[in-house]
Amino acid sequence: MTKPKPYKVRCEKCNYSTTVRPRSDCLDPKDLTKQICPTCKLIMPRVPMGMLDKFIVAFTS
Ligand SMILES: [Zn+2]
Repeated sequence: MTKPKPYKVRCEKCNYSTTVRPRSDCLDPKDLTKQICPTCKLIMPRVPMGMLDKFIVAFTS
């Protein structure tokens, strides 16, 4: 079983971004809600992770 990779999403409207860490391979509704911008209520598309993002993920997970 492979561990699901975390990914970053960013709002195209207000530039709010967050990192989503899926808990399992199954699609979790909680992960989906994390992809919605709390300000604009828009679904945020995935964006490539930068070096800093990868560091934060490794440090906090
Ligand atoms: Zn937004």
